[in-house]
Amino acid sequence: MSIVYDSDQHRGLIWQAWLAEHAPDLPFYLWPETGDPQQVNYLVTWSVPDNLSERFPNLKVIFSVGAGADQFDYSRLPPGVRVVRMIEPGIAQSMTAYITFSVLALHREIPMYLRQQQKREWKKGRILPTETCRVGIMGLGTLGEAAALQLLSLGFRCSGWSRTPKSVSGVTCWSGDEELQPFLAESDILVCLLPLTSRTRGILNRDVFQQLPAGAGLIHAGRGQQLNHGDLLTALDSGQLSQAIVDVTDPEPLPEDHPFWAHPSLWLTPHIASETQPETSVRVLLENIRCHQRGAPIAGLVEPERGY
Ligand code: NDP
Repeated sequence: MSIVYDSDQHRGLIWQAWLAEHAPDLPFYLWPETGDPQQVNYLVTWSVPDNLSERFPNLKVIFSVGAGADQFDYSRLPPGVRVVRMIEPGIAQSMTAYITFSVLALHREIPMYLRQQQKREWKKGRILPTETCRVGIMGLGTLGEAAALQLLSLGFRCSGWSRTPKSVSGVTCWSGDEELQPFLAESDILVCLLPLTSRTRGILNRDVFQQLPAGAGLIHAGRGQQLNHGDLLTALDSGQLSQAIVDVTDPEPLPEDHPFWAHPSLWLTPHIASETQPETSVRVLLENIRCHQRGAPIAGLVEPERGY
């Protein structure tokens, strides 16, 4: 029973050292080393190699190195091989920091003050208490809930939208397509933390922007293909949206002549909202492998039919 790791080398070396100490019964190979391919039960990767079943005939679980698992083509996976996405405290902490920073920047109108600075303009606006600002989080999962709890602690009013009904203390919870409209109507700042699925592809579009209060802000840290670029530009230019902070795009990176680079009301970050932290994630990996070995439920098991 062994693990093959095919991803970032730096993280792989940290994992290898940690596992050697804490799970000496589990050989861990950094790709292209694999040991005996017959012994490989676990593959940790971002993308699935060709001829998976010939390479690793006894593969049981693919662990995604990231929180998302939309990059896999589930139709190509050998039958019986499960996919597990990464749920680990390090990703949630970094994402919470990014969302909190972005919400605070929009609430305190920092983009406007930076534009003023460029014009050498010293002009004060009103400072509104955080409780006047309603933050709506699309995707009230691991990351959305963590961000909502942090924002609540700062006094923001938070709501969340999920596929199935949820209950999070202090957060107004909406769910399903039928509750999208009331959720959007009360979101002064819309945060997207949805997984990419057939139902969420292109979801950040004209219809959604028009249902937000005029002058709303957008923070997009889900996946690039969820955002319609043209619709966002139209909404920003018309003032329907006052400002967007975009961390994920399609493609990544954007071409040099893409209008997002220079738009005055758009901040672009290069998919840095969060990432898997080596020290915290390896503990989760081992815990999941131990669960799998004793037939217990695994955290983050992807359901291919729902797409996340
Ligand atoms: P989870 O699976 O824990 O949460 C997903 C949430 O989205 C759930 O609340 C789910 O609803 C909801 N959802 C899914 N489909 C729909 C739908 N059709 N309509 C309404 N709600 C829906 O994922 P995480 O919170 O761990 O991660 C979310 C995403 O964040 C990742 O998939 C990835 O795309 C992105 N990400 C981005 C990073 C970056 O650096 N920019 C880093 C890490 C992740 P329900 O609760 O009912 O299942």
